[in-house]
Amino acid sequence: MSTNINNNGLPNIDDLQNLANELFKALPNEFPKEISLSPDKAEHPRATKIAETILHTGNLDQFGQIPAANPSNLPPAPPAFSGFGASPSALNHGNTGAFALYPNAGAGFDPQNKNSSSGVQENHDLNINDPHTGFHDVNLKNGNPAQLNEESVFSPLSLNNQYLPFQTENSSFEIELQAALSFVDTQFKKREDFPLGGNETTSSYYFLDQNPFAFDKRSTDIIVGNSFDYKEINLFKGHPFDAASVKKDFPILKETVNGKPLVWFDNAATTQKPQSVIDRIAYFYKHENSNIHRAAHELAARASDAYEAAREKVKAFLNASSANEIVFVRGATEGINLVASTWGDQNLNSGDEIIVSNLEHHANIVPWKRLADKKGLKLRVIPVDDDGQILLDEYAKLLNSKTRLVAFTQVSNALGTITPAKKIVEMAHAAGAKVLIDGAQSVSHMKVDVQQLNSDWLVFSGHKLFGPTGIGVLYGKEDLLNEMQPYQSGGNMIQDVTFEEIKYHKAPNRFEAGTGNIADAIGLGAAVDYVTKLGIEAIGQYEHNLLEYATRLLKEIPGVRLIGTAKDKASVLSFNLQGYSNDQVGQALNNEGVAVRTGHHCAQPILRRMGVETTVRPSLAFYNTTEDVDTFIKTIWELKKVRF
Ligand code: PMP
Repeated sequence: MSTNINNNGLPNIDDLQNLANELFKALPNEFPKEISLSPDKAEHPRATKIAETILHTGNLDQFGQIPAANPSNLPPAPPAFSGFGASPSALNHGNTGAFALYPNAGAGFDPQNKNSSSGVQENHDLNINDPHTGFHDVNLKNGNPAQLNEESVFSPLSLNNQYLPFQTENSSFEIELQAALSFVDTQFKKREDFPLGGNETTSSYYFLDQNPFAFDKRSTDIIVGNSFDYKEINLFKGHPFDAASVKKDFPILKETVNGKPLVWFDNAATTQKPQSVIDRIAYFYKHENSNIHRAAHELAARASDAYEAAREKVKAFLNASSANEIVFVRGATEGINLVASTWGDQNLNSGDEIIVSNLEHHANIVPWKRLADKKGLKLRVIPVDDDGQILLDEYAKLLNSKTRLVAFTQVSNALGTITPAKKIVEMAHAAGAKVLIDGAQSVSHMKVDVQQLNSDWLVFSGHKLFGPTGIGVLYGKEDLLNEMQPYQSGGNMIQDVTFEEIKYHKAPNRFEAGTGNIADAIGLGAAVDYVTKLGIEAIGQYEHNLLEYATRLLKEIPGVRLIGTAKDKASVLSFNLQGYSNDQVGQALNNEGVAVRTGHHCAQPILRRMGVETTVRPSLAFYNTTEDVDTFIKTIWELKKVRF
């Protein structure tokens, strides 16, 4: 575009304005809304564009195309659990030679395309709607993308001989999974007559009946006697989910504590991080570190791309309908506070009612109680039964035309109860209320699909999903987020600022004021990749079996009171041991290298409802094994033997 010259010799103001607008549209700070990134694609589409521009400006070939570049000019690709260095669609282009560097060479660039957001020149042949990473991948043979073939990119067996946890050299994940499922099926049938132990009713522990790896009475005998034999008690032997090899992905799990191998049973407080997450964060600081969205240089593009790619990964993980529905926050706590301070403050008035459940973590009580006190709202509580299960009929009685919000947890951190989330949401919506789900304890154990749940908001913390601390997610329906006032304000969240008026960005940027936790958002993306690769359903099935195994063994120990005996549970075994304080039990376990939490778990109301102030709380994750459980159980048996 050129500018016309006015009579007075100065450029035409309108032309200048149009030019400026063109420029601003092309700048990265309009990202991400103009580019659709998909998680199966590499993380640096805009960086690729910038690199190409830098390398090739004024250097087009005789056809007006960008010539292939020397891959050694480009930095290595970020580490990925999947090891993909070229996107699947890049392969599908069927290009050879330098296709991974310039997958769209010859595709023709549309100069009219308003989606150009990187600030690079627009007169070459890149298709911004189909961006591909041009950086070679350290995982690829010789680091040379020209030698890629389909197998070398997609076969996990090619990734430095690292196998996925389900895999052996000769079998694919799918075959193993198939075998696992048929095994589960036959075991279900075999175990119909499985005897229950302990004092609880059948209904309290119905899931134990269905344990495909059900407890064998021999195990207790082995523990009570002194000949504790791991091999005999390993009832998961042969199970295709190879937790022992998954464990190897987590360097910290090689630590010893008091000379014993670390058993990490404090997963409800925080989870450990796989090497791929650690590597991804290190890679960011080595190769990508920059502030995001605000500069036209290469590193800003890399950092912005990786950050937005992480948002896309979370979007896919939660099955949100748009990445604009994913707001990066500090954690579940900040997510809840954000909704209370924005939507709550904006929309709730004296006399309105908020419902929470008795199971809530303090993070889902205190912000609502404060808001209620400030605005004269009524906070109402869904009661639970003696097993720690939500009483839906009591909930129904609480709902009325004044109910504006229902905020509840999908899994209780103190008891492990899984709540009937979909039902709770449906009932709230029927009463005209909005719903916030606290997913802090659910996302790492089960498939959480926000569209299926139909919740208005959902929060979780990255550090409980094998990702870094200091990063978490607020999911919100897009329209709703855009109706909400900003939370914090400053840079990055505004479209335009004058001293008279401020225009805010739409979500998610409107809620991401200032410089966010860029590296850890990217680390969270890597954690999502890791969990997705293992398969959240397979994780859930394995953990379910492990929880059943541990529950059965724990219940066998005289003097143990299990607190939280819901039919549907995930991960958590809260208990007291007669004759011991909870801290004494925690210390005894620590002596054996077993890390558990003791205390009120930031959920005092539910513990008091169950008649206790504190509990010992082992909480399981997929890298825990039956051997871990056995070490824990053996220690409790030893304590019991001393005092009874
Ligand atoms: N909700 C639940 C159910 C939790 O377990 C926790 C953490 N223990 C939180 C919210 C708060 O998470 P964070 O401290 O990571 O913000």
